Amino acid sequence: MEDGTIDTDWVERQAYDLLEGVPEFIWNGESLPVPVDDIVDNVLGLKVRLAEDMSRAPGCEDLKPGEVSGLLLAHLGEIWVDAVEAGKWDTRRRFTVGHEVGHYLIHRDGRSQIFCRKADITEDEEPERTGPAPKPVPELEADAFAAALLMPEHLIREHSVDCGRDLKEMERRFNCSHKAMKHRLHAIR
Ligand SMILES: [Zn+2]
Repeated sequence: MEDGTIDTDWVERQAYDLLEGVPEFIWNGESLPVPVDDIVDNVLGLKVRLAEDMSRAPGCEDLKPGEVSGLLLAHLGEIWVDAVEAGKWDTRRRFTVGHEVGHYLIHRDGRSQIFCRKADITEDEEPERTGPAPKPVPELEADAFAAALLMPEHLIREHSVDCGRDLKEMERRFNCSHKAMKHRLHAIR
């Protein structure tokens, strides 16, 4: 879509299809948090690298330190995540990995590298966001994919009933940030 909106149902389905294809020995479809690292490694065959300096990635020499949160190097089968950011917030690391997986599955056609600046990866972005500089559609889609992957709709529904929509408890169970979970619970009613 060209108008800054995304087909969230379609994106949800992409994440659902990935989760559906995860072998039982990696994930039983129920336990939390969703083992995004095992899925990336064992199902997609991608390597996640925590990088102190993202400009060391091939072809990324011009990046400034701290400029980029995540990189997809599809031709190498690697996802690079900013190590400083990842070290501070495991929830952010997981979301960034999920976002890059979204690019890998949805957007990698013909592009060997995708750079995601900090503002490109937003755990609570409104897909309908408009304004003078709306976020590019692929970034919105990658965010929506990450949310759907880490917080699958059926598990959100099940657990939010189980814990009475206790936000803190939901964050703990899904290992997601406050803003990511708040946004997800708002989106799934
Ligand atoms: Zn991105």
